Amino acid sequence: MPTPTRERIGQPSDTVSVMEIPGFRGDVIAAEDADYDDARAVWNGKIDRRPRLIARCTGAADVAAAVRLARDRDLEIAVRGGGHNVAGTAVCDDGIVIDLSAMRAVSVNPAERMAQVQGGALWGDVDHETQAHGLATTGGIVGHTGVGGVSLGGGIGWLMRKHGLTVDNLVEAEVVTARGEIVRASANDHPDLFWALQGGGGNFGVVSSFRFALHPVGPTVVAGPVFWAAEDTTDVMRFYREFVADAPDELGTVIRLGTIPPLPVISHELHFRPAIAVACCYAGPVEDGERIVRALRQFGTPLVDLVGPTLYVDHQSGIDDTVPHGWHYYWKATSLACLSDEVIDVVAQHAYRARSPRSYAAMFHMGGAVARVPRDATAYPGRDAAHNIIIDAAWLADQDDTVGTPETGWARGFLQALQPHSAGVYVNFLDSDDDTSRVREAYGDDTYQRLAEIKAKYDPGNVFHNNKNVKPRVCGT
Ligand SMILES: Cc1cc2nc3c(=O)[nH]c(=O)nc-3n(C[C@H](O)[C@H](O)[C@H](O)COP(=O)(O)OP(=O)(O)OC[C@H]3O[C@@H](n4cnc5c(N)ncnc54)[C@H](O)[C@@H]3O)c2cc1C
Repeated sequence: MPTPTRERIGQPSDTVSVMEIPGFRGDVIAAEDADYDDARAVWNGKIDRRPRLIARCTGAADVAAAVRLARDRDLEIAVRGGGHNVAGTAVCDDGIVIDLSAMRAVSVNPAERMAQVQGGALWGDVDHETQAHGLATTGGIVGHTGVGGVSLGGGIGWLMRKHGLTVDNLVEAEVVTARGEIVRASANDHPDLFWALQGGGGNFGVVSSFRFALHPVGPTVVAGPVFWAAEDTTDVMRFYREFVADAPDELGTVIRLGTIPPLPVISHELHFRPAIAVACCYAGPVEDGERIVRALRQFGTPLVDLVGPTLYVDHQSGIDDTVPHGWHYYWKATSLACLSDEVIDVVAQHAYRARSPRSYAAMFHMGGAVARVPRDATAYPGRDAAHNIIIDAAWLADQDDTVGTPETGWARGFLQALQPHSAGVYVNFLDSDDDTSRVREAYGDDTYQRLAEIKAKYDPGNVFHNNKNVKPRVCGT
């Protein structure tokens, strides 16, 4: 039985009692609970929203119960996977958070090379379990990022050029729909819904479980970053352009521009020094990887070279501490068709103007298997982009006025300078405010229209709108 203080929450006219979530077995957390502040916090410390209830689900049945409750009471819904989205869409004011953070189980079938992954798992969970079998699938490059949001928006990572995006490895999803029904979506079951889940974000339901195809990877791979001084940026980027132009699919690379992070593996005197890094991961035999990355390591005069044989699972968590929970973040992003001299000049001019040593820009090399999937095969449309840059302003929680305001200006100015070269944007890198209008840009007209039709079928009332929202298509539009 509920205690008297928990029996009713909020004003009498719109009360929600903890015990009034029929069929719910998980924890329900409300403002008077000691863990409320922890439970409503997301990765971006700038987000400060106060939901009425946080429904911490134990499985699909709980999710369905929470969706039905929200619909019956006309409550706002936010869905929390890993809580990593910079826009903070995992939490809402006043409504109910369908919190999947207790649903992190991963089970691997090595014979079938498949992983069953609950909707609240983090990539660190997936890598840990899959690498025990020498297997992996493409996932985010930070271990504490959620599988849910990454997988539903696209999923770019070290392995994508060899094994495709995360959405390309999605085989089946268990989905709780806006009606509170539990359905399976795959190429055979609800194929329209399945297509929409492969890039359309959290618009179509709550995914309680994902099934992913796995591939042999490592466990030891050649990986790590090489850093050069910021003054070398133009030269390094021009070299990099040639280096990756005919790189094998096994080679994943990310450029990072900012300051050298204060990681224990890097000598103290280099910490926070402005620098460009090229980080890589070769998803193939170690000897081949060493040969392929040799030219990169021999270019110019590196400040520090950390490339070498390493466990893939360690590489996947290697930069976790450089983007911790609780700092304040603000992002801008765009895709690029190529690294022209003009683009390189813009990047070199803007990258080091950030005031905060925690801010940086990161640029993913796309192509390979990503580009070989037909554009209309999934709802991820950015198949032609050659590079994907994210401008990540980051500062400490008590620096909003001194650093935060100029830092957001830096990110905006940087993006504005890149805008003439833009080839779309990856939906998962969109921030809030002015970026919400870029959802259509992220999908392009054809994909957006098709998503809007599927949205009209599965969520005509736009119950799931705290996301990068696709509006249900209204007849005649
Ligand atoms: C430090 C950092 C590193 C990143 N690195 C990468 C990267 O390498 N590759 C990449 O592709 N992206 C990366 N991203 C971006 C990432 O894809 C998005 O931030 C994504 O939204 C994170 O997913 P999440 O589940 O943690 O987010 P959440 O904030 O929990 O969710 C974001 C939205 O996704 C939806 N959602 C989440 N889970 C579910 C679910 N199970 N069912 C239905 N809807 C759900 C909801 O609409 C929710 O509002 C990174 C982000 C950060 C902060």
